[in-house]
Formats: sequence, C-alpha cells, structure tokens
Amino acid sequence: MAYTQPRGRQKVCYYYDSDVGNYYYGQGHPMKPQRIRMTHNLLLNYGMYRKLEIYRPYRAEYHEMTKFHSDEYIRFLKSIRPDNVADYGKQMQRFNVGEDCPVFEGMYEFFQIATGGSIAGAVKLNRGHTDIAINWSGGLHHAKKSEASGFCYVNDIVLAILEMLKYHDRILYIDIDIHHGDGVEEAFYTTDRVFTVSFHKYGEYFPGTGDLRDSGAGKGKNYSLNFPMRDGMDDFTYERCFKPIIKKVMEHYRPSAIVLQCGADSLTGDRLGCFNLTLKGHGMCVEYMKSFGLPMLLLGGGGYTIRNVARCWTYETAVALHCHEDLSNELPYNDYFEYFAPDFKLHIEKNNMTNQNDNVYLERCMEKLTENLRSITHAPSVQMYERPEDSIDAEQITVPKNGVGDTQFKGNIDKLGGGQAYADNNTGDDDEFSEAEAKVL
Ligand SMILES: [Zn+2]
Repeated sequence: MAYTQPRGRQKVCYYYDSDVGNYYYGQGHPMKPQRIRMTHNLLLNYGMYRKLEIYRPYRAEYHEMTKFHSDEYIRFLKSIRPDNVADYGKQMQRFNVGEDCPVFEGMYEFFQIATGGSIAGAVKLNRGHTDIAINWSGGLHHAKKSEASGFCYVNDIVLAILEMLKYHDRILYIDIDIHHGDGVEEAFYTTDRVFTVSFHKYGEYFPGTGDLRDSGAGKGKNYSLNFPMRDGMDDFTYERCFKPIIKKVMEHYRPSAIVLQCGADSLTGDRLGCFNLTLKGHGMCVEYMKSFGLPMLLLGGGGYTIRNVARCWTYETAVALHCHEDLSNELPYNDYFEYFAPDFKLHIEKNNMTNQNDNVYLERCMEKLTENLRSITHAPSVQMYERPEDSIDAEQITVPKNGVGDTQFKGNIDKLGGGQAYADNNTGDDDEFSEAEAKVL
C-alpha cells in the first residue's frame, strides 16, 4: 500500500487556452479545435478543476518553433492568411499547405497555443514542479521540418521532447493515435536518446509509413518501434500488444521521462478511424504508463468524432488524477450536453466489427519487435554536456486570472473568447455527421 500510494497521487498540471476552441479549419474539415473546449468543459463539470493545477499556456514564438522547423517554413506560416493566399501559391505547394492542411484565420496563433502548452509542460516537468503535464491541444505528430501534413503544421511534440532532452538522457515517446507517428519518428530516427513507439493502423492508410521493419537508423538503429495493426482492434487485443511491448522497452531502455500522444481517432466509431477501442482500452495505456511513476507529458492528437474525443480526454485526465474509477457514467450537465445524445453516458460501447488482428499475425509482430529490443544497448549513456537554458521561465507562466479551483472559474473560463468565431463560421451543415468530408486521413 505504501508503495503504490504516492503513484496514485501524482501532481497534475493542465494547459488550456480558452481561445483554442474558436479556431476553425473550414467547412467540412474533420479537424475541429472545438473538441478541446468540449473536453475542458466536460472535465470542469466533473469537478476535476479542484484537483488540477490549470494554466493558460504562453504562446510559443518563432525562435522556439525554429529549433526544429526551418526558418523559411515558419516564416511562411506566420505570414500567410486567407486574404493573401494568392501571393503564396508556390510556397503553399512546397510546404504542403492548401488541402488537408488549409490556410485558416488565426492559424499561426493556434499553433502558438498548441506548441506553447507542450513546451510549458516540458519545462514544468524538467523543473520537477509536476509529475504529469497535460496539453490536449498538442500531439500534432505528422508535422515535418519543412512541411505540414495530416492536419498538423507545427510539431509541438518534437519541440517539447527537445526541451526535455536538456534534462533527460533518455526519453520514451509512445503514440496511440490510429495514424503512424511519422513526424516524431522521423525527427529522432537516428538518435538513441529518444525511443519512439507507435501503434497504428497500417496498410492503405495515411500516412503510409510505420512498417514493422522500420526500426531506426545509424545510432538510432532499433530505437524506433512500429506496431502495424489491422482494422477492428479491440480493447482486449490492444492491451495484449501494448503491455508486453512497453514492459520490454522500459526494461531495456530505462527512460527517465515519458511523452504519450493520446490521439483519440483509435476509438470505436471515429469518423476517420477503423479501430474498435473504448475509453477503457485507450485509457489503459495512460494508466499503465502512469504506473511507472516517471515524469510524463500527456498530449492530444487526432480524434474526429468529437463527442467521443471529449469523453476520452476527460476520462484520461481522470486517469492521470487517479479518480477515473469514481467518475459517474452519467455525464454531468455541460455546455455541450446535446452532443452526447442519445445516452448521455461517459463510456462508449464497442461495435460488432470484425477484429482482423488474428493471433498468428500478432505473434509474428511481437516476435520481430522483441528480437529488435534484445539487440539494443541497455540504457545507452550520454556524454557529459553543459545544460542549455530553459526555453521559457517556468515561473513566468501564470494561472489564468479568472481563477482556478473555485466556482467562479467553472462558470467563466469557457465564456472568455466567447466561441463567437465558431458560431459565426458554423453554418450548421458542417457537423461531425456530415457525409461530405475532406480527403480521409
Ligand atoms: Zn490520427
């Protein structure tokens, strides 16, 4: 008991900007930043604000983004607007902005918020001021050095990991989004200081990478791990893959910090997904990673049936707080209550789709991955180096003025910024049930 209790009571910091739900990718686009506000509102109404330390993140600046991205790419993102796209035709093509990654109003600020939350969380963890940091606006794993991809423009994950590397010799990155975590894998493909693990649907599916045999290169050989999966993955099978693999990675690699990308498009019924996970199967990953008691950054990612994204990240915030078993399955009344019709329950049921991940296939994958893990150096060491300065002064990040942990806060935070932009843009025929959707990623 004495052993497990401290782990159950880890301190959790949570980053949220009330403006984030106002950004809008455009009509018919499946990526809806509003899901972050729905999550926030739901977890507040569950009373979790009493246990969380809530921060409004600072906005990440150009010079921070260019620690990974190229100068010309970030300069382009900063300059382009819906009213000047005509001047940027060539660059839009070059940086893959236009279709899946459209130009939208205020997009650079949106990236600043998402990135700021992840870097602020990283700094907070580095200082030892929290055990877990959460930024559901982050987790945009497809963005490349000089290219937008899969609704992601700025890779907040890579930037947060770079910040954490100032304090940690070895970091474990785990990605449970249904899509391959290609941008993060690529950034750290040739180093042994970041071990990347991605569980994803593979085979005629975006982004097309993440083959079982792709395991890193050079010094990073065998420090990238890919578990390709097929349609219909359910809770039971996912746990059978996730736990043994991660247990081995932890034993062999011995990281000192964890970054977990919790993309919710791996849930059952996702608009773009094809897995069959419930909140319990998805949240199991958070619960299991938390059990190691290491500093952990929890990030969002994909998730396109937005009522389920809000359910999932609310539940996972509760897992981080170790109060998920106390959450009522009856949703509390909240600003988005009607979205949760017809049952108004927290938990979702799996459907009857066939699980195409049969035993023979899974065992072949497990065998190959275990073999790779056996060949890595146990806990590779890092040469002494001078620690670079923190990106931001953690003490400068302040709690939002409208208060935390009191009832006044609960009523106010979502009214800030109003949701007016969303209301103005939303014509009503663009809900998540819409058939006319952008290219499926
Ligand atoms: Zn995804």
